[in-house]
Amino acid sequence: MSMNNQGRPSGSGEAFPASIATISGDRGLDHEEGLIFELGHGATGVDLPDVQISESRLGGARRSGAIGLPGLSEPEVIRHYVRLSRKNYAIDSGLYPLGSCTMKHNPRLNEKMARLPGFGDLHPLAPQSTTQGALEAISQLMNWLTTLTGMPAVAMSPKAGAHGELCGLLAIRTAIQARGEDRKRILVPESAHGTNPATAAFAGFTVDEVPALSNGRVDAEALKAKLGPDVAAIMLTNPNTCGLFEGEIVDIAKAVHEAGAYFYCDGANFNAIAGKVRPGDLGIDAMHINLHKTFSTPHGGGGPGAGPVVLSDRLAAYAPIPLLVADKNGFRLIEDAADAPKGAKPFGRMCAFHGQMGMFTRALTYMLSHGRDGVRQASEDAVLSANYILASLKDVMSAPFGDGPCMHEALFDDSFLDGTGVTTLDFAKAMIDEGYHPMTMYFPLVVHGAMLIEPTESESKHSLDRFIHVLRTLATEAREKKTERFAGAPHLAPRRRLDETAAARKPVLRWKPDPLKAAAE
Ligand SMILES: *Cc1c(COP(=O)(O)O)cnc(C)c1O
Repeated sequence: MSMNNQGRPSGSGEAFPASIATISGDRGLDHEEGLIFELGHGATGVDLPDVQISESRLGGARRSGAIGLPGLSEPEVIRHYVRLSRKNYAIDSGLYPLGSCTMKHNPRLNEKMARLPGFGDLHPLAPQSTTQGALEAISQLMNWLTTLTGMPAVAMSPKAGAHGELCGLLAIRTAIQARGEDRKRILVPESAHGTNPATAAFAGFTVDEVPALSNGRVDAEALKAKLGPDVAAIMLTNPNTCGLFEGEIVDIAKAVHEAGAYFYCDGANFNAIAGKVRPGDLGIDAMHINLHKTFSTPHGGGGPGAGPVVLSDRLAAYAPIPLLVADKNGFRLIEDAADAPKGAKPFGRMCAFHGQMGMFTRALTYMLSHGRDGVRQASEDAVLSANYILASLKDVMSAPFGDGPCMHEALFDDSFLDGTGVTTLDFAKAMIDEGYHPMTMYFPLVVHGAMLIEPTESESKHSLDRFIHVLRTLATEAREKKTERFAGAPHLAPRRRLDETAAARKPVLRWKPDPLKAAAE
C-alpha cells in the first residue's frame, strides 16, 4: 500500500470534497500517528550532565556512531502512547460482538485484586512457604472449576484454549499408551474451531471430519459410524460454533466410550451453560475452559489467557505437573513426576511454572463476586441477549437456524445480501462507520457467509437496542439497494478499506529507516 507523506494510505481523503481535505492528515480529534522512530527529531526529555571521562578510563569503548534511538520531548512521548492507546478498539470503548471470542466486560474489581501486592508482585520462584495464600487461591479456583463442571481433576497450567486442547489430547495419548493400544484417529465435526484439528495434528493424530446436519448439529449417526478401534477421541464443542446445543451429546458420549475412545469437549463456549449443566454429567473426559472468555479476564491484546483443563476419572491420573496438593503442612506444588502421589502418572509438563496467576486471580474474583447463582445467571443472561438479537433481526437478516432458540450466539448468513450489490465484507465494514466492531465473519465454515454475533450478558438492553437499530437500518438499506454507504466502507475510520489478503500474505513486520533520511542525519 502506498503512503503519502502524512503516513495515510493514498486515496484516504476520497470521502471528503477536495475543499475540506485535511491539512494535517488528522481527522477531527482522531490523530494520525507515525512510529516513534519516524517522529523522533533529536530532542531529549531530560538534561543529562556532561560527564567528562578520560579516554584512558573508557578503555577504547567510546561509541563511534549514533545509537538510533528516537529523541522526543516528554509531552511528545506521552501524546504518542496515548494516541496509540486510542487506536485500539476495546470492550471498554464499545460493544464487541465477536462470536466465539466472548468479549465481555472485565470488572474493575478483578483488576484491583490482581494488583494486590501479594498477587501482583509474586515471583514463581519464591519459596512456597511465602506463597501459601496464592496457592490457596489457586486451590479455591480449582475447586470452583471442578464443582461447576462435575469433573474430579483440573490441570491449571495451560495458557490458552488451544494450549488446553493440547494438554487434554496429550493426557488422552498417554492413557491410550498406558492401555498398550495404538489409536491414531480423532473425529472432529466440520463446524469445529480451527484450533481443534490443528491441535489433533500437532499431537500426532490424524483428523477425520464429521459432517453437520442441516439443522446445524453434528451428524451423530455419521459420527457413530466412524467409530472404531483406531479412534482415539472425538473433539466436540458444546454449545457448538453455530451457537446451538448438541442435544445428542449423552448418546454420543456413550457410543464413544463403548468404542474405547475418549471424549474431548472444546469448552470455549462454557459461558453459555456454566451453572446450568455439568459437563461431567454429559460423559466428557477432558475439556478446556477459557478463563479469558467465560470468567471475564482480558484476552487478545489485553493480556494473556488461561486454559485450565478439567479431566474425568479416566484421565485424571495423567494430569501434567505441577500438581497442587494440600496436607497438614499447607499447600505444595509437586514439580517432579517422581514425587507425585500414589496413582498419579503425570504425562509431563505444559510450560514452566504453574500458569497465569494474574488470570487466576481475576477469574476467582469474578466467581466469588458473582457466587454460584450469579454465574448461572450470567449464562442465562448471555443466552437471553443472543436470543433477543436473533429475534430482533431475523426478519431483515437471514438466520440459517433461526427457527428455534439459540444459545449464547446468534448466527446469521449473507443470503439477505444476495442481489443487493452489497458484499458481506461491505456490510461488516459499514458497521465500523457506526462505531461497532464487526461480528465474527465467515465462521463457522459450515454456513456460507456466516456472521456470528455474541453479545454476552454484560450488555444492557439499552445497548442491545442501539446495536439492533444500527444493524436493522444497515440491513434494510442494503435490501433497498442503497449501496452508497457500503461501497468502500469504512469512510469515517482513520483508514479506509485495507487489503486484508496482502496484510496476511505479505505482512510488513519490521520498520526500516529511510536510507536517505538516515544518511542526511
Ligand atoms: C477461543 C476458542 C478456542 C481457542 O482458545 P484460545 O484461548 O484463543 O487459544 C478454541 N475453540 C473455540 C470454540 C473458541 O471459541
